[in-house]
Amino acid sequence: MRVLILGGGYAGLRTALDLDAMRARGQLPEGVQVDLVERAPCHEVIFWLHQVAAGTLAPEQACIDYGRLPLEGIQLHQATVQDLHPTPRRVDTDAGPFSYDALVLALGSGPSSPDIPGLAEHAHTLRTHEDAENLHNALEAAYARAAPLADAAERRRLLTTVVAGGGYTGCQLAGELAHRLPDLADRHGAPLDDIRLLLCEPRDRLLPEMEPCHGRAARRILERKGVEVRLGAPLERLSEDTAVLGGEGLPYGVLAWAGGIRAPGFLKEAGLGANPQGRVIVDDHLRVPDHPDILAAGDCAVRVAPDGSLSTTPATATEAMNQGRYMAALLRDRARGRAPAAAYAPTRLGLLVSLGNSDAVGNVGPLPVQGRAAGLLKNGAERTYPDTLLRPHTEPLLDPDFLRPA
Ligand SMILES: Cc1cc2nc3c(=O)[nH]c(=O)nc-3n(C[C@H](O)[C@H](O)[C@H](O)COP(=O)(O)OP(=O)(O)OC[C@H]3O[C@@H](n4cnc5c(N)ncnc54)[C@H](O)[C@@H]3O)c2cc1C
Repeated sequence: MRVLILGGGYAGLRTALDLDAMRARGQLPEGVQVDLVERAPCHEVIFWLHQVAAGTLAPEQACIDYGRLPLEGIQLHQATVQDLHPTPRRVDTDAGPFSYDALVLALGSGPSSPDIPGLAEHAHTLRTHEDAENLHNALEAAYARAAPLADAAERRRLLTTVVAGGGYTGCQLAGELAHRLPDLADRHGAPLDDIRLLLCEPRDRLLPEMEPCHGRAARRILERKGVEVRLGAPLERLSEDTAVLGGEGLPYGVLAWAGGIRAPGFLKEAGLGANPQGRVIVDDHLRVPDHPDILAAGDCAVRVAPDGSLSTTPATATEAMNQGRYMAALLRDRARGRAPAAAYAPTRLGLLVSLGNSDAVGNVGPLPVQGRAAGLLKNGAERTYPDTLLRPHTEPLLDPDFLRPA
């Protein structure tokens, strides 16, 4: 049986690590070959990208070399997937075609690209390492240009940064920038009073994918840090130097788009059922309907809930890793000729959204937490991530059932 995993991010890497550990323990039958196709030279730790963009972390600190990971039995191919042909079971890449018996789609997502005039030309995005470095360089360049200017209006424009989109990516980026932009201004000799940082969200609250109390707390914390939060303010268009937000023109220096995600377009083009964001629809065992040999997980997939509606579980790294682990168990059972395991159960670990400098909001299991305590938990959990890759069968430090009301 040849297992082909596309994407070595949170979901795909977890599947590969777990399959390799199962092989080492003699739990995989002889003859199971596992190939992992990934375009990036290292595992990008995406949940630290806002810190790379803001300059808190150096780019190499948010990268883990695949060569350091316990993947001895996995064939790793650095290649970019270009196309998928489910009927002849073939995947085309820039390094040639791959065939498979079982395919795992774990290709993540890119930024959404709604039809906003000027967005593609002038906005920065934050989904890859390269995006984070580009955004950081743009901020450096804007601040360097602003510092010596005598023209106060032009200086203020260059020192105005806009984050468009108040979901967890936008909130985390704004929180991190609130702490780093004063350092940047200091380093370039730009006046601190001219710095402006805006976070704009079209809906009426921040973090619309979470409980309303978290959006309110995030707003309070971010405003305390000097972020101007604008709700009901969709980005309507932008030129090189002016963004129109909720009908109002705003001169800006750098704008980051955090308005949503979109799965790679070739998945839908291959004939797989997908939602409007191009995320592949999967059943409660993460299988693609009508294609029993294809599993899909993480940001590029969306589950059908028991009532037939599409799951609203946010697309997160925590969820992607949980799904990656589940897929490894499913593939092991398939290789052994056993009936599939129980249906996939979403993680109950919760989600914490960092707001810079050890502040966060969110849930640990069912418990809402906010402020410093949440920030400490968030930082602690993230710091253990590289270790969980080196020891693939580490169970979560925190058992969420422990936190469930009796
Ligand atoms: C700034 C930011 C902060 C975030 N913070 C958090 C957080 O604090 N907590 C949390 O739970 N989630 C967070 N998320 C969300 C989280 O990062 C995603 O939900 C998670 O990365 C999804 O995992 P995945 O495995 O589906 O995709 P990814 O981790 O994106 O992995 C996909 C992999 O596929 C590769 N790939 C893509 N296309 C191709 C191709 N054509 N050919 C070959 N390889 C390809 C990519 O290089 C990548 O390695 C954050 C996201 C961002 C952008």
